[in-house]
Amino acid sequence: MTHTTPHPTTPARLSPDPLPRFAPDLLAGSPDGLLATSTALASAVGAALAAPRSGGPLPVGAPADVLRSAADALGPAVLPLVGVGEDAALHRLARVLVGHGVDLAHPLAAAHLQPPPLAVAVAADALASAGNSSLDTYDSGPATLAVERWVVGALAGLAGLGDRADGVLTPGGSLSNLLALLLARDAAATRLGMDVRRDGVAALPGPVVLCSELAHFSVHRACAALGLGECAVRPVPVDHRRRMRVDVVAARLRRLGAGHTPLAIVATAGSTDFGVVDPLPQLAEVAAEHGVWLHVDAAYGFGALFSERLAPRLAGLELADSVTVDLHKLGWQPAAASALLTADASAFAALDREVAYLNPADDSLAGYDGLLGRSLQTTRRPDAVKIAATLLAHGRHGLGRMVDACHALAGHAQRRIAAEPELELVGPAELTTVVFRYRAPDPAWDDDVNAGLRRRLAEEGHALVGRTAVRLAGPGSPRRVCLKFTLLNPTATREDVDALVDAVLDAARACVAGRAGRPRRDRAMPEPVSDATDAALTTPDPTSALTTEEGAA
Ligand SMILES: *Cc1c(COP(=O)(O)O)cnc(C)c1O
Repeated sequence: MTHTTPHPTTPARLSPDPLPRFAPDLLAGSPDGLLATSTALASAVGAALAAPRSGGPLPVGAPADVLRSAADALGPAVLPLVGVGEDAALHRLARVLVGHGVDLAHPLAAAHLQPPPLAVAVAADALASAGNSSLDTYDSGPATLAVERWVVGALAGLAGLGDRADGVLTPGGSLSNLLALLLARDAAATRLGMDVRRDGVAALPGPVVLCSELAHFSVHRACAALGLGECAVRPVPVDHRRRMRVDVVAARLRRLGAGHTPLAIVATAGSTDFGVVDPLPQLAEVAAEHGVWLHVDAAYGFGALFSERLAPRLAGLELADSVTVDLHKLGWQPAAASALLTADASAFAALDREVAYLNPADDSLAGYDGLLGRSLQTTRRPDAVKIAATLLAHGRHGLGRMVDACHALAGHAQRRIAAEPELELVGPAELTTVVFRYRAPDPAWDDDVNAGLRRRLAEEGHALVGRTAVRLAGPGSPRRVCLKFTLLNPTATREDVDALVDAVLDAARACVAGRAGRPRRDRAMPEPVSDATDAALTTPDPTSALTTEEGAA
């Protein structure tokens, strides 16, 4: 039987309705559109520069008030039937962002590992957005595939990972850690002759992941997400310099019975609060001896490799099986700019997948495949473009100077804090952070005053400092509220750091004055929870660290 389909050009069969017409510059990627994008950006920047600012890193006011006025400035949360036009929309958003947002380039912004991004990276990111390439297949964007391979090669080279190294960009350090533990899990299972990808993890006997008690909480979350359970994570105590104790790692691995599968040692290179680097060469030796995957979480610390002065602190990184890198921390990229590097490309075999509409075998053989097999994502932003622009523009020297500047600012903060009788230095400037606390006249007020002064500064919009919790009196002691400067602004000065310390002192004294005369509260403070690490923090006291049960092992 034959079908008689109407010929497509038969005029009578075509809808007579004309197609809607659009301006030639509607789409960012066209030549007209690129120009329109640049004009619109210039206009939005004009609005941002003209918008009223608080003068500090945060808007003035309590969080609920700031959020309400930001919502008011946006207008009712309904999709308008008729749009206001591009310029009006961009101007409104620019005013909201500037008037109610955070100013990370302000020299008194020093709370989190959230840097002020570099101009060249933002420009490159905008260009990459206009192209909207992906990375899963060849035809989703050949250029960005090449750019990501270039970035991975450059970063792996800087890490010293060798010729077989590989890697992939991810949406953040948390997900780089997840991916690393997935590769480690599947590698361990394969050694046991198991296919956990197909069969699930139920049959994997007693998975164990060893990490410092100061490791980032994303290690715990990754184990939960991977079906290993958070109980797979065995936090290892730290020494007097807050480094994971290698003797304890070795003793635990020796003692693991047949019912257990050691999946990975997770070393931290640059702990979130203190910037401490675990002893990488010794951990690599133990990992090799036991045939265990060594993952180094260098989310924060990797950037230290740009600095000739600080790079030696990461010696041993080249011995890792995998490395987490966050360039949206010590790398001045707009988020996200993270990578998981591996010592061996074959590690990614666990992610191989053939998908009919993306990478059929004959297309792959002909070279049409992309990086689908490196990632848990399918569509993926070309984050490599801004990183490549930054590495090319500034080079190792340029970035190293920025790292050195921030390290020097942290050193200045450390000296200033140590010289202030009202302040107590808790963690010295290893990389670009300093941890400290205010000593209230009544030690029972310490936690309240330190927590309160930070909120006071934030509400005044005057200065943005970080907060964490540290066990000051050894393992098992309660965690006490501490303050933290995270210095990531290479254009800030020593005077700015002095102004930060002065702001802390002023706010502390105001908090103390507010308390004095009030009846003393006898109920205990709730145990504070660190916003950076979920793990216990210990004091720099070698004896207490060595008296733990494993100290003798
Ligand atoms: C910040 C951080 C992470 C998490 O990275 P995100 O990019 O915020 O997901 C992991 N590990 C360490 C040591 C970190 O400092």
